[in-house]
Amino acid sequence: MKHSLESIKEERRQLIKTLTPLLKKALRATLSEYYLTCGKKNCKCRKGKKHGPYLYLSSSGDAKVKMHKVPKGLEDKVREGVTAYNDVWKKLCKLCEINRELLWNKKLSGRYYGRKIQGI
Ligand SMILES: [Zn+2]
Repeated sequence: MKHSLESIKEERRQLIKTLTPLLKKALRATLSEYYLTCGKKNCKCRKGKKHGPYLYLSSSGDAKVKMHKVPKGLEDKVREGVTAYNDVWKKLCKLCEINRELLWNKKLSGRYYGRKIQGI
């Protein structure tokens, strides 16, 4: 499918616009749920009914993976942040592809070859 140069530029504008709100909440992390036992001797968790699930967020900064227990009440926000990060990644890939297309188009549109083309 062929797109006009203007529609590709518009698509890029829209991508950049939708990226900003996602960037504000993006979390680069993996989420895991754990069931745990406590220290109490006669607790139900000792008989197999463990406490939980507790949500943990693992994030890798340098080479070291850090685990953070997600505080109660923040579970939804944290899940939203991880989803936002994945969306940012997809949109960024698309944006880079558009930038490449536009760069190629610029190259083909006259500056280098001396002739203009209307679309890609
Ligand atoms: Zn217990």
